[in-house]
Amino acid sequence: MKQLFAFGVAIVLVICLYKSWGNPTGAKLTLGIAAGENELDANPERSRYVVDRDADGEGTVRRRVEVALRRHPPVGEEAGGAEVGSKDGHIDEVHQAKQQILALERKIQELEGRIPRKYPDVTFLNYKNRKRILITGGAGFVGSHLVDYLMMQGHELIVVDNFFTGRKRNVEHWLGHENFELIHHDIVNPLFIEVDEIYHLASPASPPHYMYNPVKTIKTNTLGTINMLGLAKRVGAKVLIASTSEVYGDPDVHPQPETYWGHVNPIGPRACYDEGKRVAETLAYAYAKQENVNVRVARIFNTYGPRMHMNDGRVVSNFIIQALQNQSITMYGSGKQTRSFQYVSDLVDGLVALMASNYTLPVNLGNPVERTIEEFAVIIRDSVGCKSKIVELPAVEDDPQRRKPDIARAKRYLDWEPRVPLKEGLIKTIEYFRKELARSNHSQRNIFVPETTEKK
Ligand code: NAD
Ligand code: UDP
Ligand code: UDP
Repeated sequence: MKQLFAFGVAIVLVICLYKSWGNPTGAKLTLGIAAGENELDANPERSRYVVDRDADGEGTVRRRVEVALRRHPPVGEEAGGAEVGSKDGHIDEVHQAKQQILALERKIQELEGRIPRKYPDVTFLNYKNRKRILITGGAGFVGSHLVDYLMMQGHELIVVDNFFTGRKRNVEHWLGHENFELIHHDIVNPLFIEVDEIYHLASPASPPHYMYNPVKTIKTNTLGTINMLGLAKRVGAKVLIASTSEVYGDPDVHPQPETYWGHVNPIGPRACYDEGKRVAETLAYAYAKQENVNVRVARIFNTYGPRMHMNDGRVVSNFIIQALQNQSITMYGSGKQTRSFQYVSDLVDGLVALMASNYTLPVNLGNPVERTIEEFAVIIRDSVGCKSKIVELPAVEDDPQRRKPDIARAKRYLDWEPRVPLKEGLIKTIEYFRKELARSNHSQRNIFVPETTEKK
């Protein structure tokens, strides 16, 4: 009996709805049966809503109305589709459009996959001149720029990286190139390959990154360096160790020449990195003396440029990102501490020159133009053109107070000195970070093609 009643209600509703669709003025119909004295809007969507709401208690009423509507669609509505101009109809249309866009995106990806990949036009070297070069940490900031440079010169590159702080994206423009190979490997473990030269760069470099897991930082710089020196010894390769100005600690000699032995706290928060690099240097000269390994040691000073990690916490990336987002610029301590910043392409030129030279003692590679961190904050704020406040936060422990390289040795033995002025390098770096911040998904690329790849 109840069911029969419900069916009756459904039929009446269908008729009313049908009539209302035919009524271009959208006049209201009054229903006093199933809707319990509710007014049903002549708008079909609203009508259905009211019916759904009020008839729910009746169990099958709603379903029957829907079945009836499907069997007898109003004029202008496709069988099985939603009403034209209704909310459901719009939702369906949007959904369909989204599906179509997705399908098109997949198609584009598939078609792009069929296009042969284009690579920068590398120099051809015959097998006598072409070297097999290993770069550990080659997916990192500095390593990836070195990869670009050496690839353009026509060498065969093998990048070994565990992607702790590096990213495939930094070298993705070479993936698939016949001269390029990327190996996911942690250099704390032995590696047996055949190479002519090794640039050993694998190590976290920013203080937050190397302090994140101090034991691992020590292992990478000691065990990892032993493995690379062992490899160099076995295959007779030349090996360049990426050391750092941190071997000078918080220096009491200024500027710092290579002859200065440094002032390092062996148990402070920076010790895992500072002492790790000092041991790496010691290992290099022990292998040179004992095993005749041909070593080079670069003491790298603060370097910046595109492909720096967004969250590496270093002063350059922090300040630029803060300025680009109009946030306060965070100065640790008084801001009177100094640093000297070199652009990454200058460093790459220096590393290549050092490897090619016959000079085996450590060489400082850095830009001797020294600035306080406070000055640097103002320069970045002006270069970005924002109104960020510069705020003073507590000083960090063991923060070196002055740092400036003495580059007489590099000038004399490598005929090298930095060429890129700070403002010029900053423009490129700011542009890179601006694009990084604008990225919202993987398909939006921000492939930085530096000048080094244009050189032949
Ligand atoms: P980065 O963090 O961008 O690159 C380091 C790379 O090494 C990353 O790709 C990381 O994934 C990789 N790596 C770390 N541990 C590894 C492991 N155990 N096995 C394999 N790969 C590992 O840093 P960066 O700025 O490019 O620095 C490169 C080198 O230059 C480092 O040795 C660093 O100490 C030295 N350095 C850099 C600066 C600078 O200002 N950028 C200054 C002084 C020295
Ligand atoms: N090693 C490596 N690749 C090589 C050669 C050596 O990773 O091609 C590692 C090796 O496993 C060892 C380290 O380098 O742990 C030092 O090698 P070395 O020959 O100096 O020492 P030994 O093998 O005699 O201990
Ligand atoms: N620094 C700062 N604000 C930041 C990050 C760093 O004032 O947001 C300071 C830091 O205390 C140090 C200098 O900038 O004095 C350089 O720091 P960075 O971590 O870049 O490299 P470091 O030379 O100390 O290894």
